This record gives sequence, structure tokens and C-alpha cells, in this order.
Amino acid sequence: AARPEGAGPPPALPRGSLTEGEAKRLLAAYGMPVTREASAATADEAVAAARRIGFPVVLKGVSRAVVHKSDLGLVRLNLRDEAALRTAFAEVTAALERAAPGASEGCVVQEMARGEAELFLGATQDPQFGPMVLAGAGGVLVEFLQDVTMAPAPLTLSEARAMIEGLRVAPLLRGLRGRPPADIDAAADALMRLSWLAADLGPRLAELDVNPLILRAAGQGTIAVDARATLT
Ligand code: ADP
Ligand code: MG
Repeated sequence: AARPEGAGPPPALPRGSLTEGEAKRLLAAYGMPVTREASAATADEAVAAARRIGFPVVLKGVSRAVVHKSDLGLVRLNLRDEAALRTAFAEVTAALERAAPGASEGCVVQEMARGEAELFLGATQDPQFGPMVLAGAGGVLVEFLQDVTMAPAPLTLSEARAMIEGLRVAPLLRGLRGRPPADIDAAADALMRLSWLAADLGPRLAELDVNPLILRAAGQGTIAVDARATLT
């Protein structure tokens, strides 16, 4: 496999669980598109960030101690104006104090991404085979469908494409019943870039999940809207 342009080197990051923003910095350093976002310690900072990013926005509560944010009321989507954002900021801040007492790292304001489909991309360490990457159906479907493909890193673009084409959800990505096809080429590019990140970090990267990667219509690219990683 040949290293794609703009893949690496990785930025210096702390050990242990990364925040979503830190995990996205790793992805961005390998050329994977991630949400525009800014952290906000106060409602006024959140409003200023949303004006720069552009409404509608997403607000999330940040704590590296939390695994599933939406289960805990820490994700608010599609906030259309300043009033909605201020209300959500108060609610998410309260939910964060309950979910992770003393371990709150404030809030993050993100662009609201839209697309045709969602995938899960992951990286893990196999004790025998070393760095591996995974692709699967996104969102809650990950757990239900057990629709996952896996291969050792790094990957060529065509290997990455074959992993996505090999999923049972692949026909949905190609467009069903008049829905536009999703950008499978861009998803393969993202998976190939993730594989270089996994290969470069080796055993330092205990695990990394992009869940979900949103796929826009063919030709429009992808965007990672959530990421988690653990470094050793
Ligand atoms: P969790 O920690 O619960 O996985 P996520 O950040 O993945 O939290 O948010 C939950 C869901 O909200 C995602 O699966 C995705 O469908 C949606 N979502 C999250 N962030 C964005 C965003 N910036 N734009 C659009 N949708 C988003
Ligand atoms: Mg998620």
C-alpha cells in the first residue's frame, strides 16, 4: 500500500481516553474530514462559536469519562437559533454534571452535518496480527446487525473499497428506491487514511472508533461527526 498525501504525522496527544475533539485532531492529521467545531465554557461562548460555524448547530457535553453521550442527554442536534442553543447549553451542562461529576470538560459546538448514510469505522490492535481496521453499518445498527468487515492496516484504496462493498448494508449505500447513492469512494478514502493512522501509531493506539462517519451523496464526500480513541 502507498501512503496517501496528507496522511500524518500524528499530533502529540495525552495517553488514555481522548476527548472527541482530540480524537478528531488525530483523524484530521491523516486527511479525514471532521466537523468544524469549537469548545465553549459558557453560553455566550457557545453562541459566538455557533455564529462562526453557522446555524443549525450541534451541542455536546464533553467528558473523557463518558462513553455513550446520547444515552446521557449530552447530544443536542439541529439547534436552529440562539434561543434554542442557550436552552440546550443549560440542559447539557446540567446533564454533564450528573453524568460525570467533577470530570466535565465543558461543551463543544459543531456544524450540523447531513448525509445519505452512516458507517462505523474502527481501528484496534490484534495481539497476533497487529493494527487492524474495521468497517460496519453505522449508529445503533453496529450492535444489532453484526455487519462488520476487518483487515490488517495499512490498506490500499481498493482494499478499503472492498471492505465497504463487502458489508451487508452496501446495497443501501448504492441507493435504493430512488434515494441518491452515497459517496462510497470518499468512505473508502477515509477508511484507507484511518488504516495509515493505525499503522503509524501501532500498539500506541489501543482503539479508535468513528461512529458515525456520515456519507453525503456521491461526489459530496464524508464527514466524521463522532470519534473516540484510547492511546497507551
Ligand atoms: P454518542 O456518544 O452517543 O455516540 P454522537 O456524537 O455519536 O454521540 O451523537 C449521537 C448521534 O447524533 C450520532 O450517531 C449522529 O447520528 C448524530 N450526530 C452527532 N453529531 C452530529 C453532527 N455534528 N451532525 C449531525 N449529526 C450528528
Ligand atoms: Mg457516536
